[in-house]
Amino acid sequence: MMTTLRQIAGQRICLTFDDGPHPDYTPSVLDLLGSYGCRATFFLLGDSALRYPHLVQRISREGHSLGNHTFSHPRLQYRQGEQGTAQILRCQQVLEQLAGQRPRWFRPPYGRLTPGLAQAATQLGLTTVLWSRSAIDWGPLGTQRGIARRLRRATAGDILLLHDAPRRHNHPQYMLTALPNLLARLEHDGIAAIGLDEYAPLASV
Ligand SMILES: [Zn+2]
Repeated sequence: MMTTLRQIAGQRICLTFDDGPHPDYTPSVLDLLGSYGCRATFFLLGDSALRYPHLVQRISREGHSLGNHTFSHPRLQYRQGEQGTAQILRCQQVLEQLAGQRPRWFRPPYGRLTPGLAQAATQLGLTTVLWSRSAIDWGPLGTQRGIARRLRRATAGDILLLHDAPRRHNHPQYMLTALPNLLARLEHDGIAAIGLDEYAPLASV
């Protein structure tokens, strides 16, 4: 059976960071999450993980959840099922090797879940995770004010999409500026930021 997660239940929120790891931003994100006692999920690219293995290890060591975001973020078309499978599998192998744990979560590049990708993820035992709210921390809408405004609306139940790498037109520097306010408000409102591994412990799946 295919599962796609877009929201979570309870007085909790899942922050998800895509396209990393990146040495200019991921350490700052980890520092901030740590100082608020928050956990998150990092949807990593296999090729970036190979370049910065120490960051993959730090993410894992600090109790965050690992997600598979393919090896190199391809723009996959409808018919490229085999390429999709290879992309997910290669990322999975890299992350497992570097972190010593098997990622359980998959997010397709650009949020485009083609039937081929969905099937490949399911076959690898991965749950596909989309989102209920996006910071839109990229492109022309990804201004400091715009990101801050959208993060003010993030609330319990959300799976929130953020980016911690400057890939293409991402603006992680603005995301980082807005992140402390979000974490402080969640703490104030009693909303726990948790990783997906905590949300769905293996025993309950
Ligand atoms: Zn991405």
